Amino acid sequence: MIVIGAGPAGYVAAIRCAQLGMKTACIDEWRDHQGVPALGGTCLNAGCIPSKALLESSEFYARLREAAAHHGIVAGEVALDVPAMMARKDTVVHDLTEGIATLFRSNGIDWIQGHGRLLPERKVHVTLHGGDERTLAAGHVILATGSLPVAIEAAPLHADRIVDSSGALEWTSVPRRLGIIGAGVIGLELGSVWRRLGAEVTLLEAQTVFLAMADQQLTRSALVLFRKQALDIRLGALVKSTRLTDDGVVIEYQDADGMHTLAVDRLVVAVGRTPCTRGLASAEAGLLLDEGGFIHVDEHCATNLPGVYAIGDAVRGPMLAHKGSEEGIAVAERIAGQSPEVNYERIASVIYTQPEIAWVGKTEEALKQAGIDYRSGVFPFLASGRARAMHETDGMVKVLSDAATDRVLGVHILGSHASELIGQAVIAMEFDGSSEDIARTVFAHPTLSEALHEAALAVGKRALHLLKPRRS
Ligand code: FAD
Ligand code: NAD
Repeated sequence: MIVIGAGPAGYVAAIRCAQLGMKTACIDEWRDHQGVPALGGTCLNAGCIPSKALLESSEFYARLREAAAHHGIVAGEVALDVPAMMARKDTVVHDLTEGIATLFRSNGIDWIQGHGRLLPERKVHVTLHGGDERTLAAGHVILATGSLPVAIEAAPLHADRIVDSSGALEWTSVPRRLGIIGAGVIGLELGSVWRRLGAEVTLLEAQTVFLAMADQQLTRSALVLFRKQALDIRLGALVKSTRLTDDGVVIEYQDADGMHTLAVDRLVVAVGRTPCTRGLASAEAGLLLDEGGFIHVDEHCATNLPGVYAIGDAVRGPMLAHKGSEEGIAVAERIAGQSPEVNYERIASVIYTQPEIAWVGKTEEALKQAGIDYRSGVFPFLASGRARAMHETDGMVKVLSDAATDRVLGVHILGSHASELIGQAVIAMEFDGSSEDIARTVFAHPTLSEALHEAALAVGKRALHLLKPRRS
């Protein structure tokens, strides 16, 4: 087995292949800022993990400054040491990437450090970091080369002034005015980090609808909450050009009211990611890509070439670490003769803002569009004892179920720890549960999870801690 790419899709596939008894090599070209090869791909080195480390640190700081007094804690003067915060983040990343190297050793996986290129007949040409070249051959090849940030002509990257998400995870000082192009997942998470640390943050979003992929009842509330945190989110704002000045960047953008300029000290371009597949296969190999550059695969991640599979961000579906990992496991098991399935309908999405937004299944808008008759139950965290004890009362839980069968079709959470709560909904849906199943489950008190229980009760109009609608 040869796996190209050691992000969460490729490294997990390699481990599962090795567990199943295959002799496995994993080729990866990632090097950290010191030029040292590192496993884990975007997720561990420049994505999920460093962003969550900084979200945690910045939230800690914001709480000490803003929430401590509410709890009767006098924090005194709270000061920032951004280089130390970055060093902690780097340690978290380093420990985890080293952990994968240890897992590779313990599973007997060969880590090949260099660039891989697919040739015909499941051969792979490798250019090692040192410059040496070799050609490997295998019975099966898994392509897991991930994705890269989308670049736009209107805002070419420039040193540390106009950067992509990787650059915005490395600054050792807080910009006074920060611009972000794109109010999607990355824009909101990184915008939150730098806002909490003191930057004035403006997000320019081309779409007029905020977070169009999520349930709009929740995103409308989220937009109000984020704006209260002084995240200046401007919708319908299309960036036309950027100009470097002596100490910053001037952005020209257009919205419904006409052309505007915005001066910032630093700018992040966060307008999506694109599959990393250019030059991945020789022309003779004949690997089929779609027009977006994604590797064409069937429902089991098989490419058009016998014995060659592709997984993770490089193929269709959401660009999420857990989606890639599950595909990696499924491909390894299928090659070993098992019959696994990835349930793409049950992949949770999370946006790690404060409050967090998490969901699984269909949104109310999608159900309406599909003409599916549904029932909805909503429960606000304001009515949760635990949320009040935590002083985290923003947001709600919403359960959507089929009007005829009561099967849960979607669960949407805006609230503190939504990323953890959503797992309960995923399990319920994976077992084809109904809202009544959740309503009849006993949840510990006092917990935030009780809000999921109450939202499920609300589907049947019997939530206990909600006021009855007033009769007119
Ligand atoms: P990648 O992680 O991109 O790994 C691909 C690897 O292949 C890389 O190491 C690359 O160097 C290597 N490679 C590419 N081409 C070759 C080649 N030809 N030869 C050798 N090696 C090659 N997702 C979440 O689920 N949760 C989050 O909280 C989250 N946060 C994110 C935050 C940020 C800032 C970003 C940018 C992304 C985030 N994501 C998150 C998305 C997540 O990082 C990706 O979905 C995930 O990393 C995709 O995994 P992958 O294995 O497909 O690819
Ligand atoms: P995204 O698709 O979430 O957001 C990009 C935003 O940029 C969109 O709202 C889009 O309308 C806007 N946009 C595009 N072109 C624009 C332009 N010219 N001017 C203004 N706005 C423009 O993409 P992202 O935030 O870059 O994230 C990339 C991927 O990484 C996502 O698919 C996401 O799944 C993944 N990711 C996941 C997490 C997480 O799971 N918590 C965190 C970060 C990234």
